[in-house]
Amino acid sequence: MSDATGALGADIAPEQAKTPQARVAGAMRGFAQEIGALSAFRLESCIHCGICADACHFYIATEDPQYTPIWKVEPFKQAYKREASPLAPLYRLLGLKREVTADELMKWQHLLFDSCNMCGRCSLICPMGIDVAALIEQARHAMFEAGLAPKELYQKAAHQRSTGQPEASAEPYRDQLLAIGQRFGVEIPLDKSDAEVMLCVPRTDIEHYPSAVAALARVMQHLGVSCTFRSDGLVAENYGYYAGGKSWQREISLRLIEQAIACSANILLVPECGHAYTALRWEAADLYGKPLPFKVRHVTEFLADELEAGRLKLAPAGTGKTTFHDPCQLVRKGGVNDAPRALMKAMGIELNELKNHGGFSFCCGGGGGVLDIERAAPLRYRTMENKLREIDDTGAQTFLTSCSDCRRTFDDAQAHFSWNKAPHSLLELVAKNLSGVGNRT
Ligand code: SF4
Ligand code: SF4
Repeated sequence: MSDATGALGADIAPEQAKTPQARVAGAMRGFAQEIGALSAFRLESCIHCGICADACHFYIATEDPQYTPIWKVEPFKQAYKREASPLAPLYRLLGLKREVTADELMKWQHLLFDSCNMCGRCSLICPMGIDVAALIEQARHAMFEAGLAPKELYQKAAHQRSTGQPEASAEPYRDQLLAIGQRFGVEIPLDKSDAEVMLCVPRTDIEHYPSAVAALARVMQHLGVSCTFRSDGLVAENYGYYAGGKSWQREISLRLIEQAIACSANILLVPECGHAYTALRWEAADLYGKPLPFKVRHVTEFLADELEAGRLKLAPAGTGKTTFHDPCQLVRKGGVNDAPRALMKAMGIELNELKNHGGFSFCCGGGGGVLDIERAAPLRYRTMENKLREIDDTGAQTFLTSCSDCRRTFDDAQAHFSWNKAPHSLLELVAKNLSGVGNRT
């Protein structure tokens, strides 16, 4: 176990047990699979300026050099320099880069998982254009091969891969979905064989925010969109992505892809879930091996398009002074900046932007699977303080976001810090302020 400032060992599930030699061999196999022209360019281009440290909230909160983003991929760099760089024989001969050891890999679990949200803020700021977050994602792949994904992420990924949901539940999510429809008095379209839009749902909403599930169904019904959930491809999250299990990520994405194809959907609609958007919009086609035969849209983008087309009309929301947290995966990786603001404007919302908003927004602190890693909590709380201060500084009464995991992270902070703000879903606000009748029907 590691402490809050991060020193030590790895926290793994019993099924990840390996000898030190097998861990090193697994990691090296994983690194080798990730080395290509682009990653080599990135690893060669670093001028060690340290600017990426000032972008990372783990470093900002602690001023601990180990949280410098590029340092988090040091084992990847060591492996590349020794095994695949143009000067690899020299590096080996002169011992300029040591072999990666099992102890180092164990230590780096904390740096690659507990203290990285894969938020991409470091990538944005690097003067050499190095996508540090992409390198971290690649290094996570090697850690998974070494049996060093954190146990919570590994176990959830394994469960989702084999059952479709990341954890067992007293009732399957499909039944819970239908029960949510009954409870909120909204029809849940399920297992239609033909639909324009395939819907999926964050397990976070099923378990924590059922009103958001109902809001999604209500908005679609209001707009008259031909849509369906599919029992065999229901969950938006992809724990394979978090854990670094690339082949598992592929299998989990395939469930959704196959179901979208089965119902002839033109659009796979990602609900309020940031990382599901990255996994489906930017990574799924690569893993699938060919272009997806449908578009992937985040619900915020979809609704902003409906607004622009005049099919969605909204009433004033009366939320008073309001601020908005941009989920990293949407705004920084996906460029979904204008869509939420267009929706808020249509509801007459007076938006008080955070000091760092849009592409420069800080992560909520829970992204990249960090919220699920129990031992990461003390560091996560320390890191979040800056974000909570920014929210307080706006003086806003209402605080909105468009990602359920961000919402859950802020809810958790509310309990931990006795913070006086509750995060609300932008989608739920839209559903509450629907006006007129949708004109698709
Ligand atoms: S900002 Fe870019 S060039 Fe500078 S240390 Fe970080 S990764 Fe290297
Ligand atoms: S991706 Fe975000 S959390 Fe991770 S190292 Fe970069 S800035 Fe820090």
